[in-house]
Amino acid sequence: MSAPHIDPSTLDACVDAAIDEWGAEPTHLLQVLREIQERFNHVPPAAVERVASRLRISIARVRGVIGFYDFLSDRPWGLYRIVFSDEVVDRMRGSHLLQEQMCRALWIEPGKLSEDGLVSVARTASLGLGDQGPSLLANGRPVTRLDEARIEQMCACILERRPVDQWPAEWFLIEDNVRRRDVVLDDASAPGDAIRAALARGAGGVDGPQALLDEIKAANLLGRGGAGFTTGVKWESCRRQKVEPRVVVCNADEGEPGTFKDRVLLTRRAELVVEGMTVAGYGIGATQGFIYLRGEYRWLLDALRAVLARRRRDGLLGRSILGQGGFDFDVAIHCGAGSYVCGEASALVESLEGKRGIPRNRPPRLAERGYLGRPTIVNNVETYCAAALISLYGVQWFRARGTARSSGTKLMSVSGDCERPGIYEYPLGVSIREVLADCGARDTIAVQCGGPSGTCVDQDEFDRRIAFEDIESGGAFMVFDASRDLFEVARHFAHFFADESCGFCTPCRVGTSLMRRLMDKIHDGKGSEHDLQTLGELQRLLQAASHCGLGESAGNPLVQTLRKFRPAYERRLIAYGVEPAFDLDGALARARRMTGRDDPGAHLRGPE
Ligand code: SF4
Repeated sequence: MSAPHIDPSTLDACVDAAIDEWGAEPTHLLQVLREIQERFNHVPPAAVERVASRLRISIARVRGVIGFYDFLSDRPWGLYRIVFSDEVVDRMRGSHLLQEQMCRALWIEPGKLSEDGLVSVARTASLGLGDQGPSLLANGRPVTRLDEARIEQMCACILERRPVDQWPAEWFLIEDNVRRRDVVLDDASAPGDAIRAALARGAGGVDGPQALLDEIKAANLLGRGGAGFTTGVKWESCRRQKVEPRVVVCNADEGEPGTFKDRVLLTRRAELVVEGMTVAGYGIGATQGFIYLRGEYRWLLDALRAVLARRRRDGLLGRSILGQGGFDFDVAIHCGAGSYVCGEASALVESLEGKRGIPRNRPPRLAERGYLGRPTIVNNVETYCAAALISLYGVQWFRARGTARSSGTKLMSVSGDCERPGIYEYPLGVSIREVLADCGARDTIAVQCGGPSGTCVDQDEFDRRIAFEDIESGGAFMVFDASRDLFEVARHFAHFFADESCGFCTPCRVGTSLMRRLMDKIHDGKGSEHDLQTLGELQRLLQAASHCGLGESAGNPLVQTLRKFRPAYERRLIAYGVEPAFDLDGALARARRMTGRDDPGAHLRGPE
C-alpha cells in the first residue's frame, strides 16, 4: 500500500500552522509532530524535512523522535487507527480475543495497515481504563466495555467508512466510578481559595513562600506517584537555586498498568490540580508550569484547556495572580505520545524539551537543572491536590489522617476480580483486606499493588497496609481470584517491561528481553529449574545495573510470584523422569564379581 497523496501546499500549511501555534523552537518538536500525526494519520517525509528546516534541527533528530514514540509514525496508519488496551485485567476479560475477532472481520494482521489503507489495529500497554475495560482507542477516542457485539458493530462502522464521531455515543461513555471519597474527592473549596491562603501567609513582613514551604514540609507530604519523596524538601531545594525562571511540572503521565486515578482527578478535580501547581509556583518562585498529559489521555485535553482559560480569566493564572504584584505564573499542557518510560521524571523533562524520553543521569537533580537547565519540580497530579489542601487547611488538618509516617489520604485504582472496580480514597494505612472487602472481591489469592513494578501480595499478607512504611504504591490495586494463574500474570508483566524498555542501557535492554524469553520458554513447557535460577540472577542484575526505575523493578513481579506462587512455575517445568537407555552400573556387575567387591565405592553414584 503506497502512502496516500497529500497536496504539498496543504502539508506545508499544516506544518506551518502547528509551528506557528507552538513556536519555532526545537523544544516544541514533539507537540508539532503530534499535530501533524493527528492531521494526516502519520508524519509524511515532506513534513519531516519542513519541520527540521523550520525548527533548525537535523532530519535525523526529527526521525529519532518519531521512532521513539508509539503514537507517532512515518508510515500511514489508515483512516481508522484502533489501539486496544493490553493490561492484564483487560486480558482477563478477553481483550485479546476481541482483538482477534476484529482482525478477522477486517481481514488484517495486528500491527499492519489493511491492503486498502483503511484501518490498522494495534495494542498498547494501558489506556488507564482498567475499571471499565476491555477498552480501545478509535482515532484517539476511548471506547469502553467492549464485547463481541460491540466489536461486530464497530467493524461494520469501519467498513462503511462512518466517521468516528458518528458512532453511537454510548460507546464513548467514560464513568468515573468513584466508590469511596475522602478529603481530596470531597473537598468543596472554590478556585483560588488555596492560593489566597498561601498569599495570606506573607502578611506582616513574613516570607510567605518560605512559610508555605515550611508547612508543606511539616505536613510530611510524600509524593503520591509511588516514589514517596518528601515534597517540601524537593520544593525547598528548587527554591534555593539561584537560576531563574523556575519551573513547575505536573506529571500526568500515569502509564503504570492498573492505574487510572489521575484520569478521574483530571476529570473531576482539574481546578484543584492547577491550584496546587499555582501554590507550588508561589512557594518556589516559578513563573512557568506544565501539565505533561499522557498521549492516551489526549481526549481530556480540551476540557483541561478550558480550565486554564477560565482561571486566566479569573485572575488565577497569568500576571499578578489575585492582584499580587510580582506573582506571575501560567501553565501550558504538553501531550505525551505513548511512552511508558516518560513517566520517569527526568525522561518526562526530556520529552517536554521535545526529545526522546531517555532518563537523565543524576546528579544534577531536576530541582537544580531540569527543564532547559532551569530548576524544576516534578510532582504527581494527586500530590498537587494534596498540596493545595495543605495550603488551605493547614498541617494539623492534613496530619489528622493517615499514619504517623504517612500523612493524608491515597487514591486507589481498583480493578480485576471484584464486583466494584473504580476509585477508592482512603486514609493512608488502610489494609489490603479492607480494600478487598469494600470492592467486593471474593476468593482472592493475590493483589498486585502499584502496578507491574510494585508489590505482589498473597493471602498471608492481606493485613499489610498501603502506607510508605509498608507497601508503597502509586495507587494501582489489581485483584486476582483463585481462577487466575499468577505465572501468566507475571509472564504478561515480563512482556510489558521488555516492550517498554527504552533500550538506552544494556542491562535493561538485554535483561528484560531475556526474562521475557525465559518466561515464554517456561510457558511452552521447555523450562527447567536452571531457568528459574536464571530469572533470579537476571532480577538481581537489573536491580543493580539499570539506569532507571523501569529496569530496576522489571524483575520484581517474576521473583515475587516465583517465591509466593512457585507451584505455578514448577508444574510447567520439564520433568526429567527419563529412564537411561543403558544401565552402566548393571553392566559393571560382572567386573565386581570378578574382583570380589560390592561395597558402595564399587558402584556408580546415582543422582543425588
Ligand atoms: Fe531505558 Fe530501561 Fe535503561 Fe531505564 S533502565 S534507561 S528504561 S533501558
